[in-house]
Amino acid sequence: MMDIAFIAHDRKKDEMVNFVTAYEKVFQGHRLYSTGTTGMRIMEKTGLNIHRFMSGPLGGDQQIGALVAQNEMDLIIFLRDPLMAQPHEPDIIALLRLCDVQGIPVATNIATAEILVKALDRGDFAWRELVHKYKPGIEE
Ligand code: PGA
Repeated sequence: MMDIAFIAHDRKKDEMVNFVTAYEKVFQGHRLYSTGTTGMRIMEKTGLNIHRFMSGPLGGDQQIGALVAQNEMDLIIFLRDPLMAQPHEPDIIALLRLCDVQGIPVATNIATAEILVKALDRGDFAWRELVHKYKPGIEE
């Protein structure tokens, strides 16, 4: 079972809802997280149960980032809006940086998201089970 987070900027939320709806069966059975509004929108259209953090601009990216920092997220689907300035741009950059620190698979557009969800379905994320099993405690 993987820990998966969904974040979509406002003009990407419809795309996110369509994407998660299309792959609902793949996401079922995993632990799902999201920023506030993204998760609400997905849950309105699917039967998935998602733990919702705060809205992105209010700190949701940072809450998800805290789990990434502890290597406790296995996949991040983050549909960013590349054409609209975001008030919480520093938080967005911080989250992506932490994904790179830990080597967490992260999709920032729908094409990559499609490839990663197919990989998830195929079992390509099995290596993360080892990370779960042997993850050391919080280190400096
Ligand atoms: P939201 O946050 O899901 O609460 O809208 C995402 C964002 O816009 O950063």
